[in-house]
Amino acid sequence: MTATTLPPAPDQTAPARPGEPPELSVIVPVLNEADNIPELAPRLIATLDPIVATWEAIFVDDGSTDATMLAIRDLNARDPRFRAVSLSRNFGKEIAIAAGLEHAKGRAAVIIDADLQHPPEMIARFVDLWRQGYENVYGQRIDRSADSALRRALTERFYKLFEAFGETPLPSGAGDFRLLDRKAIDALNAMPERARFSKGLYAWIGFKSVGVPFEVADRAHGVSKFSYRKLTRFALDGLTSFSSLPLQVWTYVGFVISAFAVLAAVYFLLEYIIVGATTPGFATIIISVMMLAGVQLLSLGVLGGYIGRIFSEVKRRPLYIVGERVGMEAPLERRRAPGN
Ligand code: UDP
Ligand code: MG
Repeated sequence: MTATTLPPAPDQTAPARPGEPPELSVIVPVLNEADNIPELAPRLIATLDPIVATWEAIFVDDGSTDATMLAIRDLNARDPRFRAVSLSRNFGKEIAIAAGLEHAKGRAAVIIDADLQHPPEMIARFVDLWRQGYENVYGQRIDRSADSALRRALTERFYKLFEAFGETPLPSGAGDFRLLDRKAIDALNAMPERARFSKGLYAWIGFKSVGVPFEVADRAHGVSKFSYRKLTRFALDGLTSFSSLPLQVWTYVGFVISAFAVLAAVYFLLEYIIVGATTPGFATIIISVMMLAGVQLLSLGVLGGYIGRIFSEVKRRPLYIVGERVGMEAPLERRRAPGN
């Protein structure tokens, strides 16, 4: 369905004429957010109408199993500026964002969570800064009390680790809630990698950046879609995508252990010469064999981790598969999957 077949909307709410990109695209990844969508939509309208002439809001349905798509279809029927790309299954938030960025036609795009933890009213400030020339405007969390204490502690550890080992510095408190200029969107769309750690990618592309502090609100409805298992995988993806230290560290560990082995050999040789043959060397042998086997297995594991990632990259599968589009067409150049 194209915008032209929809009932005419009053002037300001008119969708951009075909071929003419809207000024702003808002990308909302959604996984089972049926309850939040009816609350988010009016707040988006109230925020966007006064500040941009034309806009589109793209919901990227990440394999929802509740009434999310119904809610979106209902919205689209009433206001065609609300559109959707529905992925064929759950691909994860990072991939959903990638799909949204590929479908966004705006001269800038805002990425925002559906659960109202990211206040939509902040978009006005983002757009302000964008008009002042900033190309990568990010929301900077100043309070994560919305999360559990354990999650907060683990998150903090992860960022400390990333700071120490990562090859790209991340601005503190920056997440997915941000505005990206078309230049930045195109840069991200040109990144083919599958293991997408968006926070790292946003920092990696650079551009004129600025942070806007905001307080994280409580989730309006439902629960977080990130289990600790998902978060762990996410953290590992982040570290291995932006640091090769886990690969290199084994060289040093191996070196230290070899040095110990040489020292031990010298010691035992001297002992043999001075004291003569002793039987108890058995324990030493077992210990050193086990230690070396342990280190070798660990380093094999690390290699395996990276090789696994290389494997998944070289398969060159499409990043995502679209099941359905509501009120929108496929991006002009689909670089990844034919027929998508
Ligand atoms: N989300 C998604 N796919 C997923 C997990 C989450 O599209 O696999 C969406 C979710 O619907 C929400 C946003 O990403 O709009 C942030 O998710 P959530 O609020 O669960 O994360 P948290 O705020 O706990 O970090
Ligand atoms: Mg949330």
